[in-house]
Amino acid sequence: MNITVFLGAPGSGKGTQAKRLAESKKFIHLSTGDRLREAMQKGDDLGKRAKIFVDRGELVPDSIMIDLIDDCLTKFPLQARVLLDGFPRTLAQAKALDNNPATRVERAINFVVPEEALVARLTGRRICEKCGEPFHVEFVPPRKDNVCDKCGGKLYQRADDKREVVTKRLEVYRNLTEPLLSYYQSGNKLAELNGNKPAEVIQQDLTRLLNGKY
Ligand code: AMP
Repeated sequence: MNITVFLGAPGSGKGTQAKRLAESKKFIHLSTGDRLREAMQKGDDLGKRAKIFVDRGELVPDSIMIDLIDDCLTKFPLQARVLLDGFPRTLAQAKALDNNPATRVERAINFVVPEEALVARLTGRRICEKCGEPFHVEFVPPRKDNVCDKCGGKLYQRADDKREVVTKRLEVYRNLTEPLLSYYQSGNKLAELNGNKPAEVIQQDLTRLLNGKY
């Protein structure tokens, strides 16, 4: 299984780009954050265990995450091209992925965005509770306050997008996830992408990068 890892701080836009790329059907998009939120909404065992960490802006323990990703990956065909969004987030997770005989990490793409922009993106983000459509109070405001343009659902702010939790998530990113940049750099797999541009432009840059035209 051919894996592309999307790296970058929370709010760097990797989820948005992964979703767009997956629409081409050439890739399967796997977001561990989405998987955890689904489990938390259902209130199942994984969701209950994860919620304590997610709501505080901390990482869910490696053992839980490695089991979750192994379980998801075994359901995909061996010839699939997979975009991993939000995994790995620690060195232990990256090593576990490299030790999985069914997977080969082809490249890791780091979405680079200045910290002030990350904070503004995350704290202003609002999501439709019915259809999941994302909005932003300043950059993508809904036509009517707190109401989804698409389905009329109510918009809410993710508990982990509150300012104090965002600060914590960025600190955790710097301490535990940033070291992965040198891990993938030393394996000659790292590529950097300027994530501080309009989403459409990033999508074009990313497509060129994935096609090896850089
Ligand atoms: P995300 O939507 O990718 O920002 O993830 C939201 C939250 O889910 C993170 O702040 C973590 O609490 C948790 N999470 C997602 N992926 C991982 C991972 N690979 N390892 C540990 N925790 C994770």
